[in-house]
Amino acid sequence: MIDLVIKNCRILLPWNANNISIAIDSEKIVGISNDTNAPQSREIIDAKGNFVLPGMIDMHTHFRDPGYTEREDFQCGTMAAAIGGVTTVMDMPNNLPPVSTLSGLRNKQDVIANKAYVDYTLAGAIGQGSFDDAIGLAKAGVVAFKTMMLKQEMKGQSVNSDSDIIRAFSEVAKTGRTCLIHAENENLINEATEELIASGRVDPTVWDESRPIISEIEAISRAITLARETSVHLHICHISSGNAIEIVSRAKHSGQNLTAETCPNYFLLTSDIMKKFGPYAKIQPPIRKSGQNLLWQGINDGTIDVIASDHAPYTSSDKEVGWKNIFKARSGGPGVETTLPLLLNCVNKGQMSLFRLIEVFSANPAKILGIFPQKGSIQVSSDADFVIVNMNQEMTIESKALHSKQKVTLFDGEKVVGTPIMTIVRGKVIMREGQIVTKPGTGKFISGRIDS
Ligand SMILES: [Zn+2]
Repeated sequence: MIDLVIKNCRILLPWNANNISIAIDSEKIVGISNDTNAPQSREIIDAKGNFVLPGMIDMHTHFRDPGYTEREDFQCGTMAAAIGGVTTVMDMPNNLPPVSTLSGLRNKQDVIANKAYVDYTLAGAIGQGSFDDAIGLAKAGVVAFKTMMLKQEMKGQSVNSDSDIIRAFSEVAKTGRTCLIHAENENLINEATEELIASGRVDPTVWDESRPIISEIEAISRAITLARETSVHLHICHISSGNAIEIVSRAKHSGQNLTAETCPNYFLLTSDIMKKFGPYAKIQPPIRKSGQNLLWQGINDGTIDVIASDHAPYTSSDKEVGWKNIFKARSGGPGVETTLPLLLNCVNKGQMSLFRLIEVFSANPAKILGIFPQKGSIQVSSDADFVIVNMNQEMTIESKALHSKQKVTLFDGEKVVGTPIMTIVRGKVIMREGQIVTKPGTGKFISGRIDS
């Protein structure tokens, strides 16, 4: 007798199959069959003919824990993830103390150990002051490294010069992990910002002008060029501008080990959103005036490998100061809970296929993080992580309903068709019909390949 059978599933195999049963034992998938051939199990879940997808993997979250838990913490963040059909996250290292050293990693693991509702992987920080820590962090299980081409308040997270960038890439290459980069050219941004401030233009609508598209294009090009000097797998985070796609595409066609990510804010919204949400729509890179069609093209032709939320909540005092002067507000906002409903709606509108959704929001992140096919796939011996989605169920996205600490979403009031109705992590139901049905601590740390 096995633990669980999910019956009456519709799954993509990649062909579309109905009346499928998925058999689960000891947290793993142990069989996939027709309903009539399903084994005996202690528990049965009826998927009622709905699509059962591999659990979503959001590889870009900032759950702020430890250090900034007034903005978000691991419990709220992973609860929001579970509600949104996300079964594994990768959390970024810029908490306090940052995950740029082994002790920073151990400290974070201790603090968050009993807080998670879904599984989590962790990224290490690499940059000036932390180059020597990469090997140790990789051995301790971080699945990727993140660096920023923007100066950071804390040491060890950013690269200040081109030789720093090469150094970071070389050190990460030695670990066999992926190097994630936030690519923006700080000099161009500083000059544009100073000009705007000097002319008295500091209201929220100038935000995208202060970080011109060329600052992103230049930084992405440079990162790609420098990465070529090493054998690192480079992953470009949160591409905001459709014009940057061409550079990524060219480098990929030349055979470079390169992947790219974008976020719903960039392809579903335009900079007009600043008028309505002001500082709450301040993110970096900024939401652009145009070019969203090029991002869509990149998502569907494979140039963009990953959709992630860049979930990065702030308190209202971090944000409210920005109505008068946008440069004083913090950059970021929540997203882990709304990404899947938004994407299911895009599938229903014919903007992407369900198959492509699974690739960019589950399988590809798992591959990039080196945790595939344990995660990101419905196949025998994979972890039993699923989200069941009702493709016909309508929901209205509402700020006040968010489970994150920051209760403002730029999609407030938006009606979407397609709703995650059940989230299952390693065979355990975490969310049912929008309600959390388990206790924190169910989620566990998933490490990268330890053999490096
Ligand atoms: Zn981020």
